[in-house]
Amino acid sequence: MSTIAPYAAQDTTSRGRQHDEPGPSFRGEYQRDRDRIIHCGAFRRLEYKTQVFVNHEGDMFRTRLTHSMEVAQLARTVARVLGLNEDLTEAISLAHDLGHTPFGHAGQDELNRCMHDYGGFEHNLQSLRVVDVLEDRYITFPGLNLTFESREGILKHCSRANARELGELGKRFLDRKQAGLEAQVADIADSVAYNNHDVDDGLRAGLIDLEALREVEVFRIHHDGALKKWPELDARRISYEVIRRVINSQITDLITTSRCALEKHAPANADEARDAGLALIQFSEPMLEQHLELKQFLRERVYMHYRVRRMSKKAQRTINQLFEALHGDPTLMPDGTREKTIALEQANPGTGRARGVADYIAGMTDRYAIAEFERIFNPTELT
Ligand code: MG
Repeated sequence: MSTIAPYAAQDTTSRGRQHDEPGPSFRGEYQRDRDRIIHCGAFRRLEYKTQVFVNHEGDMFRTRLTHSMEVAQLARTVARVLGLNEDLTEAISLAHDLGHTPFGHAGQDELNRCMHDYGGFEHNLQSLRVVDVLEDRYITFPGLNLTFESREGILKHCSRANARELGELGKRFLDRKQAGLEAQVADIADSVAYNNHDVDDGLRAGLIDLEALREVEVFRIHHDGALKKWPELDARRISYEVIRRVINSQITDLITTSRCALEKHAPANADEARDAGLALIQFSEPMLEQHLELKQFLRERVYMHYRVRRMSKKAQRTINQLFEALHGDPTLMPDGTREKTIALEQANPGTGRARGVADYIAGMTDRYAIAEFERIFNPTELT
């Protein structure tokens, strides 16, 4: 690790783990968090979960796994330059989407609708539930027993109602305080990564073209710059170059602006950075506007494209029918999962069964959800 700033998270000042255990012999605490995340089953399943395009639509599109890796590498660069804790930044980045349902946001929205009367479903909370409870692989504790700082970073957003039930971890949402700086870096890196890779995937899928993208200022500036230097280059290579330039400009702006904010507020430690009254990891105003403009463009032109909408509709129907069938009759659930659901129902008679079904569905990959749908509803599927 390169030099670490006083406001960075450090092993010696960590708020620790929920369950006591001996410290690691050869690794730092956050390095151990990162390693546990990489070894867990939910992490491997990210390979077959949709970001925007359903996994079977093509091998070149981002999945939640490749997305998480892109987030981690952007975030590490920023963390290193700003003297933050790289291991913690990487751990949060790799874990931030562990609770996502199959079929991207369409899946999450539908599962939330299904769970309306049972406490709702929210992927950030589910990511926390995965690392706190659902990963079931250690002898002396449930979940992965991650540090407070990793868990804090995973829980990016949270309603006040849910925050009240989360104790120390939820407190910052009630007190309107910031997460640690490493969590702030991972959060912005997430949006830089998905905006840019959704442009790339949207171009590849033929949903948008370079001409349409020129409506967006940040894209137009860098498209002009790239064309000026390489007027003969084909559209594909130009698009790669433009995306590279956009990412570079955003990360450069993020580092420069955040560095100024850190110098100005000069937090003496990680907690002072949490109490700064604003996020110190930030874009400049003009870059934030460009960033939001690109986000809006993607919403209108990619996520609302009829081909994406058709896929989303199918995804919603699949999730909805799986939920209705399994919640209506838990004996349809496989061994093990069914017992967990029954135990949840006994502990919480009003909502436990629904929570068990939501845990099962949220853990599915796209292709597993489709196969399970077939096994339950298609009379020619015998198993
Ligand atoms: Mg993400």
